[in-house]
Amino acid sequence: MHSSVYDVIVVGGGHAGCEAAHAAAAMGSSVLLVTMNLQTIGQMSCNPAMGGIAKGQIIREIDALGGKSAVVSDLSTIQFRMLNRSKGPAMWSPRTQNDRTQFALTWREILEKNPNIDFWQGTVASLLMKGKQLTGIRTDTGIAFQSRSVVLTNGTFLNGLMHIGLKHFSGGRSGEGVSMGITEQLDSLGFETGRMKTGTPPRLDGRTIDYSKTVEQKGDDLPNKFSFSSETQPVKNQKSCFITYTNPKVHDILKEYFDESPMFSGKIQSTGPRYCPSIEDKIERFAQRDRHQLFIEPEGRSTVEIYLNGFSTSLPYEAQIKALHQIEGLEKVKLFRAGYAVEYDYFPPTQLKPTLETKAVENLYFAGQINGTTGYEEAACQGLMAGINAHNKNKNLSPFILTRKDGYIGVLIDDLVNKGTKEPYRMFTSRAEYRILLRQDNADMRLAELGFQLGLQSETYFNSVQEKKKQVQEVIGFLKKQSVSPDQVNGYLETTQQAPIKQKCKLLHLVKRPNVFINDLAKESNLNEWLQQYTQEVLEQSEIQIKYSDYIEKERSIADKLSNLDKLKIYQNFDYDSVKALSSEAREKLQRIQPVSLGQASRISGVAPSDITILMAYLK
Ligand code: FAD
Repeated sequence: MHSSVYDVIVVGGGHAGCEAAHAAAAMGSSVLLVTMNLQTIGQMSCNPAMGGIAKGQIIREIDALGGKSAVVSDLSTIQFRMLNRSKGPAMWSPRTQNDRTQFALTWREILEKNPNIDFWQGTVASLLMKGKQLTGIRTDTGIAFQSRSVVLTNGTFLNGLMHIGLKHFSGGRSGEGVSMGITEQLDSLGFETGRMKTGTPPRLDGRTIDYSKTVEQKGDDLPNKFSFSSETQPVKNQKSCFITYTNPKVHDILKEYFDESPMFSGKIQSTGPRYCPSIEDKIERFAQRDRHQLFIEPEGRSTVEIYLNGFSTSLPYEAQIKALHQIEGLEKVKLFRAGYAVEYDYFPPTQLKPTLETKAVENLYFAGQINGTTGYEEAACQGLMAGINAHNKNKNLSPFILTRKDGYIGVLIDDLVNKGTKEPYRMFTSRAEYRILLRQDNADMRLAELGFQLGLQSETYFNSVQEKKKQVQEVIGFLKKQSVSPDQVNGYLETTQQAPIKQKCKLLHLVKRPNVFINDLAKESNLNEWLQQYTQEVLEQSEIQIKYSDYIEKERSIADKLSNLDKLKIYQNFDYDSVKALSSEAREKLQRIQPVSLGQASRISGVAPSDITILMAYLK
């Protein structure tokens, strides 16, 4: 037995584990990160990309709170795109293509720089328990470490079983081992377990692709980045992705092998990610479509390896290579690795408190894929929250819970702990009811203060966000006061197909119009000197606040009204069975989930508004 007692042991060095270890250590906890292979710390198991729709928002929220996924992404970006620019700002989502190796190295460097983190390469086989009390972990080689709390972030490794055609191999990821023992122990401690699956496409040899037959997809002309801090800069020398398509010949070849598909033959029965279907799923589900888009994505700057996004498959190798040779540009392609599927255990997340601590074992936290989610961003933000809460609980500080109006992170955890999930849960903008409040551009203004209060976010970052807020108010105030005459702006308005003005008008009213931008307006009105005081970020933020002010106000007032229910706390271990007026479904779910507030109770599926009214009367 190792002699020192750590504050927190984090099991697993994936996206959840890295954020958990970093957060707890940065707040002052002594942390041990135990992971199967130190070489795979921060490994991207699937696509070499971060962010995208709703996920980009999460990365920026992590950054605002003081997590590191944004910085790690920025330092390994090879391409940046702001998705959905043509839609309203609630939908804009940053996405990067990353150098897979650089991403992992950067995470390791950041963690190793923190003197509060110790590392151990090993596979955890069990939790150490003294009666009902958690005291640490033991590895499969029998080495034990003691701690006050443990964060489990085992990803796809718990009894992981990989499939290629009808062959299967144990392991959580190609070329890696499996985690055995933890599920069985937790099962014996009364935890409910489930099984899920996910898949990944083959990796291609870029030297054997004929790019002239594909369509190039470049990064943004003016690339941005994830982190709001000055620690990172936008990417230079972006690499392109390329687009090609499947065709009926490809579909026919793949169909020939369907009886060797582990999914269609019934070998895999667990549920996969509905929104990341395999190519065989797509052919089956959308039989009317004669082609599917594929993205040829570089894996990094120093390798020719290619990730073929959209072609996730667990069909036999022979089917994969034959079908690929029928695709434009891939006629002579060679493979580095075959696509495969993996099945793994997870724990339905309704067994967690909103702090991600398990209800059954005190000081045990779960974060990431182990909770039934899918995606790096979803995993990373849970790791961050579990790390913060493990630290806070050890130091007798208040739990740190984000609500649905604070951020996508709040939405994700609220959904998980109240609704649970039967299929891999990924984030979408549609899951958030306050989308216009929870934008990627204002994540720093929403959350940096909380990160700073936690002791996780730096003072420099916090001060720069305060300064940004002040400058945005200054810009809006100026535009409210400053008038322009028709001859100053009508020429410009005409170019934007906007109606001309007939008399003097405040600039603010003009900025409210679609396609009218502060930069252009200020230049037309000879306000260049004024304009130069502000960064593009401040001007863009002011513009969004002006253009969408009516929607923002409406959403904020609804959110404020609903959040009153969150303030009505329910004491622990309340006996719902004794409230016979509740519907039996509500009684059963409330008893199981034990919500901490009436707000949380109202979001549990199966709990009706009438149940809340009854509870309100009863609790009074
Ligand atoms: P992981 O990144 O899996 O990290 C788990 C870590 O825990 C690893 O470092 C592992 O070594 C370590 N570990 C596990 N058990 C132990 C133990 N007992 N002791 C010590 N260390 C341990 N996501 C998508 O969004 N879309 C997809 O299409 C998609 N496809 C995927 C396909 C495959 C084949 C795989 C493997 C993953 C895929 N993912 C996909 C999921 C994505 O990789 C995960 O959501 C994300 O990596 C989860 O992060 P995590 O930190 O929870 O776990």
